[in-house]
Amino acid sequence: MKTSIYPLLLQPVSHVTGIGPALEKKLQARGIVCIGDLLLQLPKTYIDDRYISDMDALQEGVEARTRGVIVSKSARGYGRRKQVSITLADRNGSITLQFFHSAYMMNDARLTEGRAITVRGVPERWKGRWQMLHPDWQLAEQFCPGFRPKYGSLAGLSGKRVATIMAHVLKLLPVQAESPLDAVMAAQKMFAEFPVLARSFRQIHAPEVADLAPVQQAIARLKSEEVLVYLYLMRQKRMRADCAAVVLDSRDLPDRLLESLPFPLTEAQQGAWQDISADLASGHRMHRLLQGDVGAGKTWVAALCMARAAGQGMQAAMLAPTEVLANQHAATLSELFEPLGMEVGLLTGSCKAAARRKLTAKLGCGELQLLVGTHALLSDDVVFDRLALALVDEQHRFGVKQRWVLTEKGEGVHLLGMTATPIPRSMAMALYGDMDLSLMRGMPPGRKPVETKLLAASRMKVLAEGMQRILDQGGRIYWIVPRIDEDEDGISVDQRAELLQGYFPAADVRGLHGRMKAGEKQKALDAFSDGSCRILVSTTVVEVGVNVTSARLIVIEQAEQYGLAQLHQLRGRVGRSEEQGYCILVTGDGLSETAMQRLRLMEHSHDGLELAEADLKLRGAGDAVGTRQSGEAGFRLLDLVSDAAMIRQWYEHLPAISVDDMVQRFWRPHAESVD
Ligand code: ADP
Ligand code: MG
Repeated sequence: MKTSIYPLLLQPVSHVTGIGPALEKKLQARGIVCIGDLLLQLPKTYIDDRYISDMDALQEGVEARTRGVIVSKSARGYGRRKQVSITLADRNGSITLQFFHSAYMMNDARLTEGRAITVRGVPERWKGRWQMLHPDWQLAEQFCPGFRPKYGSLAGLSGKRVATIMAHVLKLLPVQAESPLDAVMAAQKMFAEFPVLARSFRQIHAPEVADLAPVQQAIARLKSEEVLVYLYLMRQKRMRADCAAVVLDSRDLPDRLLESLPFPLTEAQQGAWQDISADLASGHRMHRLLQGDVGAGKTWVAALCMARAAGQGMQAAMLAPTEVLANQHAATLSELFEPLGMEVGLLTGSCKAAARRKLTAKLGCGELQLLVGTHALLSDDVVFDRLALALVDEQHRFGVKQRWVLTEKGEGVHLLGMTATPIPRSMAMALYGDMDLSLMRGMPPGRKPVETKLLAASRMKVLAEGMQRILDQGGRIYWIVPRIDEDEDGISVDQRAELLQGYFPAADVRGLHGRMKAGEKQKALDAFSDGSCRILVSTTVVEVGVNVTSARLIVIEQAEQYGLAQLHQLRGRVGRSEEQGYCILVTGDGLSETAMQRLRLMEHSHDGLELAEADLKLRGAGDAVGTRQSGEAGFRLLDLVSDAAMIRQWYEHLPAISVDDMVQRFWRPHAESVD
């Protein structure tokens, strides 16, 4: 008898050997709750570790494994910072291994003269001899050759530990386990070759043959399952959404708002506003997506919509994905609406109980017509008197179901989603088939394109001088690091902030990342915004719509780790005023020519859509795991940009399926149930 794989995937991680309560907690903090969450941690890359090279066969700069007997071991330096050198020899030659900050190795009893070890690293010539820096090592008798995945660090675990844990997870996965969607895949001609779900997980985490092709197919299989669930939910939702709606055609308030704006609408804004006006007045429910590059001016268009509703005595609410963004919208909208005698309410998770009660009371009786907030808006005690319009900013950050939740707090509520994710039009149909599309291209006038330059990490000194000039002119600087914690490949937010503070003592450098409390995040941003903090070191959390107009420079560390679309969105944080903005992409040393060529596109193009498409072409399918570009919170594996073709294929061939609750719960754990 075959059993469904899903109950197993949804079991807590504590079922895995080696995961105790402390580690479980750490994993949970990263959103890794069940066994399936672990299995979706795809390897960074794969290592072909089948062969052992003799030392005379080593090639400079080419990663290899070799093996030898320890002939000497010595240390230089003091304390924990000691540098340990170990020399190995085989019949054909010798090599010296260098380990920095590795005092503990001196006392490691396994590493004594005469023991045979195997090492994997990049050999280089140094004073006529071979050496390797920080190779991966194992006792020769413990080494078993193979083709294996290499993981990034996770929740404080090294990549090696992750691999060990993954091996335990695989033991829990019966080969016989079945996904309800296995049969659906098999029935589609073009996907018939795909391995079933259980086998796909094995293929990815414990490949049977030394070949990337089956691994890529297995990844595609996982992604297909996610696409199917998504499209299924979307269709279901759309079928229910078509209905009559309030006619919104008031003119007075929108006109007054238009007149009060400091600049005329751009052509793109006018076009979008026309589409939307027509929808709102049609008597049918609007479900439209407003897509426009970062900084294109979507907020004003949103404000006009809200004025339409309010002008007619109805209510409008805007949902934002983060508290920081909700605060910012509330401030912007208040500035626009207060002079017209309208109040804008703000509701987030940090509202105190009393204030919250007061606000919901005003909403319930209709006294408050305009509201901005986070997920807090969706809770049951938020009841509107006569909601007519729901806006969802950065709508791609919400699940299919979530983006409809607000509309269910009224009758025939119009929906406007907003996004800066550059999705080609042909794709938008597949993804947002439940929505019409308005595209805003171009920028408000007077905006200068952000001057962009690549810089090798070894040339930080030049960068420091440039930063000092910006600071001297009163400008502010964003510094983006790829991750919160340090790992083998880079340093943490806090470490980078400390380093920069040392360089620029007067700058009051602050750190900002996703694990900070909402209040702390806001404090850091406020300090950056009011200028008391001059350099903000952050992970990509600032990507989401933050508007600090006096930020002049953004430095992006390890730029090669990002998709171009994402780099473009990050770059959009600067150059938000008349002053020239700058973006420095710091690249690792030894990048390939293709990698450099890809990044160089950033120097020339300033169009998000164009960059996304070019990136797709350049990277092609050769990328085993791939960089996620759009940082889609709603998706677990899919990337809207690089997986575009696959999503579209499924959209066009979507079979009549039903997707059970367990499967939905696995693939869309954050999509709240609204049915
Ligand atoms: P996004 O589309 O990324 O949400 P915003 O709505 O935050 O962009 O707008 C970015 C900036 O452009 C804001 O500072 C806003 O005041 C300004 N802006 C918007 N529309 C215009 C316009 N028509 N002319 C000049 N500046 C504008
Ligand atoms: Mg915005």
